[in-house]
Parts: sequence; C-alpha cells; structure tokens
Amino acid sequence: MTDFANISFAKAGRKPAGTAVVLVGEDLAVGKEARALGVADLVKRAAATAEFKGKPRATLDLIAPRGTHLDRILLVGTGRPGELAELDWIRLGGATMGALGKAGKATVIFERPDDGNPGKTAAADFALGMKLRAYSFDNYRPDTEEAPKRKAAADIVVAVDNPAAAKAAWVAQDAIADGVLMARDLINEPANVLGPVEFANRVKGLKKVGVEVEVLSESQMKKLGMRALLGVAQGSVRPPRLVIMRWNGGKAKDAPVAFVGKGVVFDSGGISIKPAGGMEDMKGDMGGAAAVTGLLYALGARKAKVNAVGVIGIVENMVDGNAQRPGDIVTAMTGRTIEIINTDAEGRLVLADAIAYTEERFKPKFIIDLATLTGAIIVALGHHQAGMFASDDKLAAALSAAGTATGELVWRMPLGKEYDKQIDSKFADVKNAGSRDGGAITAAHFIKRFVKDTPWVHLDIAGTALGSPQTEINRSWTSGWGVRLLDRLVADNYES
Ligand code: MN
Ligand code: ZN
Repeated sequence: MTDFANISFAKAGRKPAGTAVVLVGEDLAVGKEARALGVADLVKRAAATAEFKGKPRATLDLIAPRGTHLDRILLVGTGRPGELAELDWIRLGGATMGALGKAGKATVIFERPDDGNPGKTAAADFALGMKLRAYSFDNYRPDTEEAPKRKAAADIVVAVDNPAAAKAAWVAQDAIADGVLMARDLINEPANVLGPVEFANRVKGLKKVGVEVEVLSESQMKKLGMRALLGVAQGSVRPPRLVIMRWNGGKAKDAPVAFVGKGVVFDSGGISIKPAGGMEDMKGDMGGAAAVTGLLYALGARKAKVNAVGVIGIVENMVDGNAQRPGDIVTAMTGRTIEIINTDAEGRLVLADAIAYTEERFKPKFIIDLATLTGAIIVALGHHQAGMFASDDKLAAALSAAGTATGELVWRMPLGKEYDKQIDSKFADVKNAGSRDGGAITAAHFIKRFVKDTPWVHLDIAGTALGSPQTEINRSWTSGWGVRLLDRLVADNYES
C-alpha cells in the first residue's frame, strides 16, 4: 500500500516550524497553544478581511508574518466546538489535508478552540480523515504541471496534550484507514491488471497481519458443486477463484461473523451484453469483494477481538463462444436449479454459491453480503446511501447505527412475498432476473433463497462504491465504501 501521509503525534508546546494548522471556533477563538504562538490577533484581522468566520471545515491559508518561525498558517474552522462528534473530527482532518495540498509538511496544533477537552480519540479521528483524504490513485496517470503527481508523502505532526493516548487510538484508526485504501486500490485497478488470480494473490498479502487465507481453484469449486458461480466464469479465459479469509481474534468456541463479497473483476454483461457507454466502470464490479478484503485487513491489523470470516467469489463475466446463455439452467451448490434469464444478472449467481459455502462451512452468527449488484439501487438511492435488505431487524438496526456513526449510510429497503414471486421460473426453482420493476428488491430475494436460517443482510453498494461522492475524506472514484461501516458494526457489537 502506498502511504500518502506520514502522520505522527507529538507533545504540544514545542514551537512548530513550516506550516502550522490552527483550529478556529465560530467565535474566532483559538486554543491556548495557538494563543501562545501569538496568532490570536492575526486570526481576528485575517477573518475580517477574508470573511473567514470559523464555520465548520472552512479554511484560510495565510502567509506567516515576519518575525515568526513559521512559513504558513492554515486556519481551519471547527464551528461551535461544543458540537464536535467523531465524524466531525474525521471530516475536519479531511478538510485540513485538502487545504494543505500535496506538498503538505505541517504541524497541526490539535486543541479545541474553547480549551475544552477534545476527548481521547479525537486526534486519531482527525488523523484518519487526513489519511483518507491524502489518497489518490495515479499509478498510470501522466505527471503534468496542471496535475502533478504526488512526489512524497505528506509529513504531518499532530501536536497534542497527550501523545500516548493519541498514539494508542491511532493504532486502530490507522489499520482501518489502510483497509479503506486497500479497497480503493483494488477497485481503481483496471481489470487487465487485476484478474481473479491476481486479486486472490493480493489477498494473500493479508497473511502479514495474521489473517488466514485459503484460495479455492476452479476444480475445487467444481467438486463443491458451485455451478452458479462457475457458469458466470465460463466465458472468460481467466479462471475464477473463491478466497476465504479468516481472522481469529475472539474466543476459540465463538461462532464467527461472516462477510461475503461479489468480486466480478469485469462485467461485460456476458451474452446479455451491456451498452458501451460507461462499461469501463465495470472494472469496479468487485467493490463488494474489495470491501470485504479491506475489512478483514483492518480487523487483523487492529487485532480485533472477534472471529471473522470473509469469503469472496472472484470471476470475470465475458462474451465468448463458451459463455453462459440466456435460457441455460444451472444447479447451485445448495441443489437449487436456476434458469438464466439475463447473463448480466451475474453477481447474484456468484453470491448464491459463496453464501451457501459460508453458511454450511462456518455456521456464522450472521452473514452480510456486499455487492455492486443493481443499477436499480442507484435509481432509487443515488450515490449517498446503500440499499440494505435484511432478514433480521436487530442486525439491520445495528448497521443503521454504524452507518450514522461513520457516515457510510444504509437505507433499509423492503422484502416481501409479492416481490419474491417475481423470480419464480417456468423451468427451474428460480430465475436470475424478474422484470425491471423493483429490480434491486428481486435481486435481494434471489440471494435470500440461498440463505438457510442464518440472520442475513444484503447491501447493494452499486451507488456508494462506484462514482462515490467527492467529500472531505474522499477524492477518488471510489471511497472504499463499507470498510469503515462494517468495522464499526463489529467494534460496537461483536468484540468480546
Ligand atoms: Mn451484471
Ligand atoms: Zn455485475
């Protein structure tokens, strides 16, 4: 993983050189360290001329006055400091990194402008925002004057009252950030570079944080009867893989929590080929698998006290003489037969076998699957919330809470008998596509038919994982959506 920001913590009070970041409240107050630096008056004067009022995440870049040891002073508004929650600190960190730019070498005078206690984890939250914002994917981009490539990682010192506490909190946040960046890298990587085999090889890198990794080959999947997944893969010259990640940080007897990801490295639609416009985005059709990989990395790297399993089905959906046809009938691992109506409804076929395998082998506490599954969910929810389909109200509520805490929001969508009926087949147990109407819902129902009795949630992340909104903490095509949400779900509910 490329690190775009070297972040460290130091005791406040040492005189910073270079750029100093000063947090400013809505009343233009600054904290005691900033007052000691002598910038309080400067803030007031600059504010008056530049209309800087300390509004949340507003920034103002100043050349330091002569006679100080500083080059620049970057003012960052916090708004009313009494209202700062975890997510506010993360966003503030992101906005700060955005204003510092690529040449960032700075000391953040980290304190509340009202001299209140920011809380034990606030500095690490702020640093998380910085690290997420600093990311860019420019492995293949030319280095131009207008858009220069990052030459070196930004060097950031966060000056705090209690560096030991900040460093302790940073261990977890740094691990989570690395998981998010890993997911972003996987999704941004083009499909000619990242095929199923290459993806599986990258996952093997998780061994270095103590995650066990198993890779099943095509012939192993054949023996298991995964004909739904294999049917999707058969049009590609690149063989599929099923990758199983296990992090055992909980008690030996505890059933694991399980996450299953759709990993279609490229989705042409198959014989039901997609229109050309925007098809290049289908290199990201493995966003669910990327999120599961990033999550398992984060859990391992921060030594989460939980047993967790991640299972990802990695295939390529191509047009070929050997490709699966509409009208084909395949038998899934569970023994259910599936009539293929549309070969572009392939993600659910991959999930059907990956989920059945996960449930049978691991008997997990729950299964959450993530998939860039349908265009219909983008029509319904846009890019700001993922569609959540749940067989279990408690799990759904816990995910909603984790969404609010992290800003990775989920919106619960309905399930119901009437929708389920739409995927009854004339020739098989089920068909892989209904009509367009309620397309995200019938897709969820298809998956549901392959879950026995384990509490289950399906997250349709087609809108949130690809073409992600540009925010304080993400300027990439993909935000690496889901890693922070699911890590939070685990941390708040399942760690012993
Ligand atoms: Mn498709
Ligand atoms: Zn797809």
